[in-house]
Amino acid sequence: MNKNDTVPVRTDPDINDQDAVWGAQWSIVCGLLRAEVGEAAYQSWLKPMTLRGITDGEVRISVPTRFMRDWIVAHYTDRLSELWAAENADVKGVDVFIQSDRESPSAGPAGRSLGSPAEPAKGGSDRTVAEISGPLDRRFDFEHFVVGKPNEFAYAAARRVAEAHSAQFNPLFLYGGVGLGKTHLMHAIAWHIQKKTPDRTVIYLSAEKFMYRFIRALREKNTVDFKDQFRSVDVLMIDDVQFISGKDSTQEEFFHTFNALVDQGRQIVISSDKSPSDLEGMEERLISRLNCGLVADIHATNYELRLGILQSKAEQLSVTVPPKVMEFLAHKITANVRELEGALNRVVAHAQLVGREISLEATQDVLHDLLRANDRRVTIEEIQKRVASHFNIRTSDMHSARRARSVARPRQVAMYLAKQLTARSLPEIGRKFGGRDHTTVMHAVKKVDELREHDSSFAEDVELLRRMLEG
Ligand code: ADP
Ligand code: MG
Repeated sequence: MNKNDTVPVRTDPDINDQDAVWGAQWSIVCGLLRAEVGEAAYQSWLKPMTLRGITDGEVRISVPTRFMRDWIVAHYTDRLSELWAAENADVKGVDVFIQSDRESPSAGPAGRSLGSPAEPAKGGSDRTVAEISGPLDRRFDFEHFVVGKPNEFAYAAARRVAEAHSAQFNPLFLYGGVGLGKTHLMHAIAWHIQKKTPDRTVIYLSAEKFMYRFIRALREKNTVDFKDQFRSVDVLMIDDVQFISGKDSTQEEFFHTFNALVDQGRQIVISSDKSPSDLEGMEERLISRLNCGLVADIHATNYELRLGILQSKAEQLSVTVPPKVMEFLAHKITANVRELEGALNRVVAHAQLVGREISLEATQDVLHDLLRANDRRVTIEEIQKRVASHFNIRTSDMHSARRARSVARPRQVAMYLAKQLTARSLPEIGRKFGGRDHTTVMHAVKKVDELREHDSSFAEDVELLRRMLEG
């Protein structure tokens, strides 16, 4: 958002000119702050503010709850003052006080609302735990989870949590790439507890939903209910926690909920596509909390596990799939279990549709697009090898600490291509290059982009490498 963008604010029809000027300044200040703090923080904390006026150089802003008042005073009033002062030299300070919207219409001049970026509040609500918890997939139980080397540790930990009557490792932190079974294991824990000890309350929620509910509670002004609901459960499971990276106010709330539950000895289970330490944009203290329990990594599948999963799924579908086809799929669809499952489903559906037996030939035919995509997937190791040989350096120099340009430049090219051609995160890429920091990778990507722009023969080199790697 650039400096001139403003945020729409509500204006009172009978406000006078002075108020109109203040209202316009308020909307500029809000716009600037919104650009600074990001959308999530803005929605949670700043949007509910209402400008009430300016008295003796003090901007008066109301917010609906004490919780919000304290938070805004602690984090935003200094900046608000500065921004205001830049718009209006008379402003010397900001006063934030508690006043609900409902009080305002009859509250006299002082209570008149000049403008607020907030939406009108909806009525209160008393959702039960069952309503808060996300739906559970019937098929995601322990019985349908195939265990192999890559996931046996995560499986054992999940089972342990499900069977125990008190908190085990707190939190259990499940992490692994997409489609490797994190959600499946969490649902399995929930099913197991619901079946064996139905009096225990379990909440399973995606981090996205958690954030959404939190923001809604803020807007509806019932954060107290929100806190109560979350802090009274026996087991809290938050899926895909990487989603709240960088969303500061949600992280803050999550952190408090987390601490409150741990203090009471309740079990917490978290999943993420990154390890706690690799969660960019996550607060240090939250990361150290997440690291405190048991971190269970779900590794990429291997051939045996993929074959086992295919057999189990075929059995569930009650179809006979020739071993040759299973082996073919297990060899070819290596990205993740979700894709593997999808491939099997497509093959089965196709056979049923055309009324023919499942064959290897038909499988190749039905899946040709998927197979091509899988063939094209390159690894960082391949990139390193290819780039090293192209520039005539040793592959080991990709990991070495040598900084001579003759090796540093090819290394940067390889990092750049790793970012472009794989789904790896910056920290993951850094690690594969001799444990370098993610900022080094970021710098490499920027540098290569720059060079490509100014040096056409370099740009051609990179393009050539890319085409060779994509095959
Ligand atoms: P994630 O949450 O890690 O992205 P999911 O738990 O949603 O992955 O798993 C994707 C799909 O793969 C689901 O349909 C799930 O049932 C299946 N799946 C993953 N791992 C296994 C496993 N070990 N055994 C059986 N099915 C699995
Ligand atoms: Mg998931």
